[in-house]
Amino acid sequence: MPIKSRIRSIPDYPKKGIMFRDITTLIKDPVGFRLVIDSLTQRYLENGVDFDMIVGIEARGFIIGGALSYTLGKGFVPVRKPGKLPADVVSQEYELEYGSDKIEIHMDALEKGTRVLLVDDLLATGGTALAAAALVEKVGGVVAEMAFIVNLPDVGGEQKIRDKGYSIYSLTDFE
Ligand code: IMP
Repeated sequence: MPIKSRIRSIPDYPKKGIMFRDITTLIKDPVGFRLVIDSLTQRYLENGVDFDMIVGIEARGFIIGGALSYTLGKGFVPVRKPGKLPADVVSQEYELEYGSDKIEIHMDALEKGTRVLLVDDLLATGGTALAAAALVEKVGGVVAEMAFIVNLPDVGGEQKIRDKGYSIYSLTDFE
């Protein structure tokens, strides 16, 4: 698998027992980066998923979402960590294994009813993607699909997200 084989696995990061899937080795290779963007571009040119805007999740979602916005000719909206967006924001808290985290979107980021493709590098528990979907909906958007480079199906995020009725697309899985 040309994409999967370029992803580096780092044991015990960020803490013991976690196998971190590192996409920096995939995207520093121009062939790898092009494969990612071409594969996603192909899907959204051919597949008929209807959307007008790409929403990328800080930070690696910006790298993929930004390039994809360019190839597909769509606008790009950032979902950011707290305190980074300059205008009025809407926030969404979500649970982590220990504690919670928060992400934000500009209140006026989307026209009512705008269909969006939500983009991030990796799907694990689904907490981040579901929080981002909640933000999109709070500001009047509709999530057409969520796209990731990597899905970790065993962690359960995919099932949780599908159970809530969202559509998911990913380029590769790790057990
Ligand atoms: P989730 O909220 O548990 O689905 O975790 C997904 C979020 O955490 C994404 O924003 C990812 O960038 C980040 N993340 C979690 N695990 C990994 C990993 O193994 N590699 C890269 N990013 C990860």
